[in-house]
Amino acid sequence: MPTQRLTLLGATGSIGDSTLDLVARHPDRFTVHALTAHRNLDKLFTRCVAFRPDVAVVGEAQDAMQLQARLRVAGVRTEVMHGPQALCEVAQSAGCDTVVAAIVGAAGLLSSLAAARAGKKILLANKEALVMSGALFMRTVAAHGATLLPLDSEHNAIFQCLAGAPAGGAGVERIVLTASGGPFLHRPLEALDRVTPDEACAHPTWRMGRKISVDSATMMNKGLETIEARWLFAMPPERIEVVIHPQSVIHSMVAYADQSVLAQLGRPDMRTPIAHAMAWPERIDSGVAPLDFLQLAHLSFAAPELKRFPCLRLALEVLREGCAASVTLNAANEAAVDAFLNGRLRYTDIAHVVEDCLQRAPSSAHESLDDILATDTQTRVLAGQAIQRAALRSASATVPLSLSTTLDEGIGARL
Ligand code: NAD
Ligand code: MG
Repeated sequence: MPTQRLTLLGATGSIGDSTLDLVARHPDRFTVHALTAHRNLDKLFTRCVAFRPDVAVVGEAQDAMQLQARLRVAGVRTEVMHGPQALCEVAQSAGCDTVVAAIVGAAGLLSSLAAARAGKKILLANKEALVMSGALFMRTVAAHGATLLPLDSEHNAIFQCLAGAPAGGAGVERIVLTASGGPFLHRPLEALDRVTPDEACAHPTWRMGRKISVDSATMMNKGLETIEARWLFAMPPERIEVVIHPQSVIHSMVAYADQSVLAQLGRPDMRTPIAHAMAWPERIDSGVAPLDFLQLAHLSFAAPELKRFPCLRLALEVLREGCAASVTLNAANEAAVDAFLNGRLRYTDIAHVVEDCLQRAPSSAHESLDDILATDTQTRVLAGQAIQRAALRSASATVPLSLSTTLDEGIGARL
């Protein structure tokens, strides 16, 4: 069995942690070509010492110099590069055959696309890349013979339940994405404008990075995932359903024409879908404890309340209208979540900012990468203005903004 050589984009994040845990469990199968991080030098240093990649990439030149010096002293021969172009270089390098795309947000788009253009096996966690560039991304994958495997637990579950059935094809009636409902599923609606970043990030079932945790609280995450599913599985919007399932045991389902419904079950631990995609079509030990049915009290299901989750409503509208506004949806959300996490915006204003941008931005289908990048940039300007208006409104209101948190590495960086 030949070893797979990995480039791990986003090696210091939550998906990065789970992926490297699996690499460490299976050194005979996986070696590391490149590890990338934005600013978390200490963690990247430790990762380089442990996994000895050929290349490491960080955001800034100064950080690259510092990391290079530390690695030299430690006797590690990793070459350190920096900047967005270096991310693309390690994603398309002949030194790797598999790229784990786990950068958060639009910052991961160009390197994910570079991996597709280079015909790599891509394990995609960076859903924002697919939301922004769905048609282009899928065309690029097909044109260059790349293999695209979803890491997102829902999409990985659907991939497993499709079991080779033609995506979006005859026999598949609908796909059902499950959602935990996040930490505010039962919070009184009138208390939502006071929630803090730390409360929003305290997900009841999953441990994840802060941006996706807030997206899970607002259910924008599920909205982005419906768009992700539309592209990954060539599924028309009316055949994609969202169901709240607070236990996060069923990770998603596929219903067939004969009314067979296949579900994938497991503990809420990303090592299961990542192990599946890394070893596919084989199966390997993921280190996850077995699912004990006798311990599961019950599995419940409910329809999502769109009044409680306006971000989900907005994303579903974008999906139904053909996804032309998905770049705006994503960029506005990234900017709003960043502002919320940094204490500049109330939780309930995240949806207001996104809606405001969707109303103001011209929405037309994006034919090229340049169109996508231009809309992303324009939307962030609009979102900045909308955030300022919202902050002015809340300054004159009685409820103060929370100032309790700082971001680990920053999200929503400009491309
Ligand atoms: P995280 O915040 O824990 O990690 C993000 C990673 O991206 C870090 O390594 C960081 O250095 C890097 N990064 C951030 N900004 C960057 C920039 N401007 N340039 C280059 N690198 C940058 O996030 P995460 O939870 O690991 O999520 C990563 C992606 O995977 C997201 O798109 C998320 O939606 C998706 N995802 C995560 C989970 C999960 O369980 N964490 C599940 C499904 C999908
Ligand atoms: Mg998911």
